[in-house]
Parts: sequence; structure tokens; C-alpha cells
Amino acid sequence: RAAWIEGRPKAAALHERARASQVHGTPHHWVRQFPPPVPLVVERAEGVRLHDTDGHVYADFGLAATAALWGHTHPAVVEALRDQLGRGTITMWPGEDHVWVTEELSRRFGLPYWQFAVSGTDANRFALVLARVATGREKILVFNRAYHGALEPTYVVLTADGVAPEPGVDMGGIDVRRTTEVVEFNDVPALERALAGGDIAAVLAEPVMTNGGAVIRPEPGFHAALRSLTREAGTLLLFDETQTIPAGPGGCVRELGLEPDLIAMGKFVAAGIPAGVYGMSEEVAAVAARYTEHGDGGLGSTLAGGALAVRAMRTVLGEVMTDKAYAHMNRLAERYAGDVAAVIERHGLPWHVGRLGARVSYAFMPEPPRNAGSLYPKPGGSLRAALWLFLANRGIVLNGMSGAALFSPLSEEADVVRHGELFAEVIAELAAV
Ligand code: PMP
Repeated sequence: RAAWIEGRPKAAALHERARASQVHGTPHHWVRQFPPPVPLVVERAEGVRLHDTDGHVYADFGLAATAALWGHTHPAVVEALRDQLGRGTITMWPGEDHVWVTEELSRRFGLPYWQFAVSGTDANRFALVLARVATGREKILVFNRAYHGALEPTYVVLTADGVAPEPGVDMGGIDVRRTTEVVEFNDVPALERALAGGDIAAVLAEPVMTNGGAVIRPEPGFHAALRSLTREAGTLLLFDETQTIPAGPGGCVRELGLEPDLIAMGKFVAAGIPAGVYGMSEEVAAVAARYTEHGDGGLGSTLAGGALAVRAMRTVLGEVMTDKAYAHMNRLAERYAGDVAAVIERHGLPWHVGRLGARVSYAFMPEPPRNAGSLYPKPGGSLRAALWLFLANRGIVLNGMSGAALFSPLSEEADVVRHGELFAEVIAELAAV
């Protein structure tokens, strides 16, 4: 901590100045939770390097939690956006890019119809509105500790006596118990009980859980049960692929052969230009059509599908998310996961490494976690923070909250090798204490 603070006088001064105009001196609420005692104040990002205000350079393994999954300055994206800036950022009229993008989304992810949103949160919100209108039901079901964006009805956890707001989150008077059911991921009997009431509009889920510092995989048969139970109950199945796209260029939907009624995604889809998309089945599209036919404001959004965002999406889908790019990303992720696993084994640590394609994280427990219930209440926050700081002091930045590492087409093998050395060093140091 001392080394970090000492080396960052400019960042500390900026943080102090920010306190007068930003709550807690941070521009949005996430940043306050990050481990560094003085914030990492970024001046610019280039390739996979972050340059801070005090002249330090870091290899970014966090990649803005998939918003920068393709690297910060992918040449194809930079060139397309430069060009688009001279052609207008938004007109509120459709263009050829919009058609190209929705055609490509259908081809990649299977669902026939697609619409634009302005973020991952926004895509989930639109998709939930459609699910509620299509089913005439209000309730939704989420898995314990899943995160789907700044959506109050999803800030919930499972408690001994039912559902409650997440600890520390004031719901501002919204009673989540009325609108939201929560069950543990991989718990088919609980899912069956929750759906039996026939009052749930949609199950909103990550196909593989990524939030909370672990990769939590579906057990054999879980997805088949989830699909058949939701069909029987007349409940729509909405997959959020915002964080699972490192699994492959068609997401988990393609990797695992899943058949949702709706898909929502944000972040990576426009290489970090604010945007989201949501896809839907024929049946859901028939409901969405009511809004467009009447032209009322129900599902409108001025900035959704802005020309700059859609150009970014066309570039991402057409030039960046290639099999070749994924082969590189996967190779580095495999090396990183292997290095971490080898150190864990050498020291006999009861830790588990989880990998989903180009995403790797480790949980401080010996077995792969089944669900959030088996991960909490000990996600190992202070140990994670200590590891983060050790690596960041030496020029490698992991995701600040989850400790996850992501690999982009621009990520470099030398950084992964260096990480392996540093990880071995810090664990040897900790083991000696
Ligand atoms: N879905 C998932 C799985 C996420 O992890 C997030 C954000 N971390 C979102 C949706 C929301 O994305 P955004 O914050 O960009 O709206």
C-alpha cells in the first residue's frame, strides 16, 4: 500500500480535488470499491496498456470487464470510428450498418430479431419489459448473486427465509420480494418449485455465471432442465451474454447449444462505445411489433442504435470477433490459467482455477463452486485486494472487483509470462508468512 501511495502524488491530488464535485471523489459508484488506496487514474489507454497520470504503465488484464475485450485501440475499430465521426454520430434514421448488424447477430446467436439499446443494463431492461408484456406476468427469476446491471429488481440475494435486497443496497422503497424470485444456480429442484406457480415472466440468467470472482459452470443436465421447465411454465428464458462472450464468437449460446427466447448483451458489442443489443424469438417479436406499429414511446430510446455505436458493432462483428482472434485469446488464457494452477498445486493451496474461454478467475476454495451459495460468505475480499495490489505495483492490472483476467486479440504473451513469475513470487511470499 505504501509503495502504491508514494508513487502516485498526482493521482492523490486529483482524487482530493474530485472530492468537491464527485461523491466520494469518484465519478461513479464502482470505482470506490476497487482495491487501490489511491485510485488508478488513467491518462490514456493504448493497445492493452494503461498509462496513469503519474507515468506508470500497466498491462491491462481487466479490460473494462469485457467492454474493452478487443483491446483499447483495436486498429480496425479506431479506423472505423474516425471515419464515422465525419459522417455523423446520430441521426435517428436507420442506415445500412443497422441491417448488416442485426443480420449478423441473427446468424451468430440464432435468434431471428434484434433491437438496439444503450448499455447492457438497458438491453436487459428492454428484454424484461417484452417478457412481461408477452406473458402478462410481473415476476422475474434470477440466480443468487448474479449481476445484470443497474436494475433494482435484480439486486437481490437468497436468504434463509426467502429473498432480500443485497446487503448494503437500499432499494428506495421497491419491494423486491413482490417482483423477484431467487434460486441458486444449478439447483434444479428449487427452480422447479419456483416455476411451478406459473407466475414468472422470465428467467434472467448468465448461461455460465461469471460475477463474484469465479466461473460457475452449469452441471450436466442443468441447461436442459432450465429450458424444459421454463417451457412447461410458460416462462421466457433470457440469457445475458455480456460477460460470457469470452466463451467464443457465438457466446455460450453457440458453445453450449442453448435455445433462449431472448438474449441481451452490452459492453463488448460496440467495443466500449455505449451500446447494447437484445435478440428475441418470433413469438416475442410479435409483442415487440405492437410498440413499433403504434409508434408510441413505450420502447423508444433516442440514443439506441446511434450511428457511431452501430458502426462500432459492425466493425466488432465483421472484423474483430474472428476465430483467429479467439484462438489467440484462448491460447493466452490457457497459459495464464496453467501458470496459476501450477503455483496453487506446488503450495497445496485449497484454491480452484476456473476458465471460460478467454476469461480466467480463481476462487479460494478447493472444488469448483456450484453456485453463489457455495462461494459465499467467504469470497476472500482482502486476499484478492492484496494480490491485486501486488500485481498492480509491478505493472499488471486485473479486474478490481472480481480479480478476473481477460485476454484480447491485442494481449501479449510476454505479459502473461511475466504474470506467471509474479504470481509464483507473491504466493511464495505469502506461504512463507
Ligand atoms: N450484465 C452483466 C452480466 C454484467 O456483468 C453487467 C455489468 N458488469 C451488465 C449486464 C450491465 O452492463 P452495463 O453496466 O454496461 O450496463
